Amino acid sequence: MKEGGRRIGKGNERHSRREFLQMAGVGALGPLMVSSAKKEGVRRRLERVSKMKIERIEVFPVRYPTIGYFKFFEGPPGTPPGRPAVLVKVTADDGTIGWGESVPIPKWSYETLESAASTIENYLKPVLLGRDPFDIVGAHRVMNGAIAASFSTGAPITKSGIDMALHDLAGKASGLSLAQRWGCPAGGKITLSWTLNPRTLDETEKLIAEGKKRGYRNFNVKVAPDPVFDLELCKIVKKRAPEGFLWADANGGYDVATALKIAPKLADIGVPVLEQPLPPNRLAGYRQLKRQGALPIIMDEGVVSPADLVEFIRLDLLDGVAMKPARCGGLLPARRQVELLKDAGLMFLGSGLTDPGVSLAASLALYGAYGLRFPAALNGPQFLAKSVLKRPFKPVNGELPVPTGPGLGIEVDEEKVKALVTASSRAV
Ligand SMILES: [Mg+2]
Repeated sequence: MKEGGRRIGKGNERHSRREFLQMAGVGALGPLMVSSAKKEGVRRRLERVSKMKIERIEVFPVRYPTIGYFKFFEGPPGTPPGRPAVLVKVTADDGTIGWGESVPIPKWSYETLESAASTIENYLKPVLLGRDPFDIVGAHRVMNGAIAASFSTGAPITKSGIDMALHDLAGKASGLSLAQRWGCPAGGKITLSWTLNPRTLDETEKLIAEGKKRGYRNFNVKVAPDPVFDLELCKIVKKRAPEGFLWADANGGYDVATALKIAPKLADIGVPVLEQPLPPNRLAGYRQLKRQGALPIIMDEGVVSPADLVEFIRLDLLDGVAMKPARCGGLLPARRQVELLKDAGLMFLGSGLTDPGVSLAASLALYGAYGLRFPAALNGPQFLAKSVLKRPFKPVNGELPVPTGPGLGIEVDEEKVKALVTASSRAV
């Protein structure tokens, strides 16, 4: 380790001094959230943890039981029910443990429960074992070497599970929360949005009432492909929750002509943003929508790596991004993207992949630390019936507190993990 130079570390594990110090929570940028009295302790702990090695990586494929209907969980006939996820446990040679969670949804992108588990086991684990768990930049480099990119980062949802586990492990080893490690404020509470995904318009009022009963005041609606249905749906929601933030997400389900037609009509109803109106590769269509300027155009599925976002900003294709650490390779690339959005004066919205407890904790940490200003579409607690956490997240009045403990700030109950693995394999 060469302290005097710009780079520290050795060989392929090198990262910048600034990145290294920020990882330890003593970064030169931003307000320090650790007192000077603690810095010496952090430095001593850093000396210890910088010698740490990743000793073990274990995967636990599970299917969380679900509540209610959500179109993305409908698999082909014979598919076991539930929300697939791969829990990832990374253990360092001193016994420190970090947990992460890969959350593939085949109806949403190409990654599956089986591909996430086998990719970690056969391709990522071999290049990660023996590495310094604090070197998350280096971990991404070797993961991206093992599973290459196509248009963008390869297997990003799978890699997110490793990224989260390393953040958790490094935080637990240094005794710092993620916000502290990033030099950011703790974040307090995150206001949530209730997801409406009715199959018929008649269901809508009942679904809104369920959300309101649980203290939610803001609603995100799944729209497309039928613009007539979508406009009626948004009118009902606006009538029943006039003060709420009504966020329409098409999940890439319109063609360009339909999107150009419906965007001004949604704006007239009072819909403040339209998310992912077109498939991710319809870049010319995004430019048309942006130039139309009917309402802010938000991207989700199409933004995976920070490089994608830089290109889309340069091409003037969007007004903001619905962030999801679970979608874009994990917390490290997600943080870079939030910083890019803030620098460009674009909207940073918080969303998720119906995250179970571990990946939900990662989203909360990011959104809390970076001052999310809009209700977050984090609907794991709405649609999932089980948790593997010792203290599961339970929204109160439509809000969740950002955990403040070391790492992700959560404790995973391994007995619950094992029981869920067993129950999930029985369901196959
Ligand atoms: Mg979305």
